[in-house]
Amino acid sequence: MEYIVNKNAQMGTDFHTIHTKECSRKPKEKNCIDLQNCMCPIEAKNRAKQYFNNVSGCKYCCKEIFYKNKKD
Ligand SMILES: [Zn+2]
Repeated sequence: MEYIVNKNAQMGTDFHTIHTKECSRKPKEKNCIDLQNCMCPIEAKNRAKQYFNNVSGCKYCCKEIFYKNKKD
């Protein structure tokens, strides 16, 4: 699965949301950083952390990392 992370933090937070490329809720392409092909959302999260300190999974396409990400 291919993943992207939003360049812009979520409104009111400093979390950058990770989506799959298939997600209907992903941001516009110009606002995406391509994380390329990852084995799982956790790998996508680790890649996104090279760009941003605070990353979060999309509730719809990356729910495996949606809950865990807030504290670490
Ligand atoms: Zn999504």
